[in-house]
Amino acid sequence: MADTARAGCAPDALGTVRTLTLQREAAGYGRAQYGPLPLRPGEVVLTFDDGPEPATVDRVLATLAAECVKATFFMTGANLARHPALGQRVAAAGHTPALHSFAHPALGSLPPAEQLADLERGMQAFASVFGTLPAAYRFPFLQETPTMLAALRERRMTVASVDLGILDYAPNDMSMAALAGRLAQQLDETGGGIVLMHDANAATADALPTLLKTIKDKGYKVVHLRWDDAAAPTR
Ligand SMILES: [Zn+2]
Repeated sequence: MADTARAGCAPDALGTVRTLTLQREAAGYGRAQYGPLPLRPGEVVLTFDDGPEPATVDRVLATLAAECVKATFFMTGANLARHPALGQRVAAAGHTPALHSFAHPALGSLPPAEQLADLERGMQAFASVFGTLPAAYRFPFLQETPTMLAALRERRMTVASVDLGILDYAPNDMSMAALAGRLAQQLDETGGGIVLMHDANAATADALPTLLKTIKDKGYKVVHLRWDDAAAPTR
């Protein structure tokens, strides 16, 4: 697997060391809220939230391609509905698409019926772009609710939390040095895992070459997370 994943990569590219394929099932991963993914020490999974965003997605895809790494993109249904071709471009580049709500609400502040309506709209938007329903969901702000957890369990969807991140959102310092410094520090603290970043954030898109260099320089290996689509429901 490692050899085929590196085919066509520059010898010094970060590269994708292996692919981790999960079953479509009700599960949860990411030590912020769950147990860890079955990763080896020093492995990371790159995840990007809030896209696809026209101003940044091409830069992000180009940087990932240059380093031969594959990531998982938690996209909002609203952005997919606005930019279906961008979503398809992400998937065509070999990255894994997954769902990050429709309108990015703080679900805990919505009544149950509205939470479920947002999920349903997100599922529809995702299915209309990718032809299948998503296998995994990341909560906006990682803010879980009992209603949503039950709905995801019923749909045999996996909840994707995080192990570490770069805090690339307001009001944090989003200079390249600050983003890379937080990544280095959190890698040291956690030893790897699921890394949360925001591809819709211009500062993150700008810093991504430096962030990937940080991962490479510290000796971490990138694992491509995907889900088994053999039994993917289409609707
Ligand atoms: Zn988000």
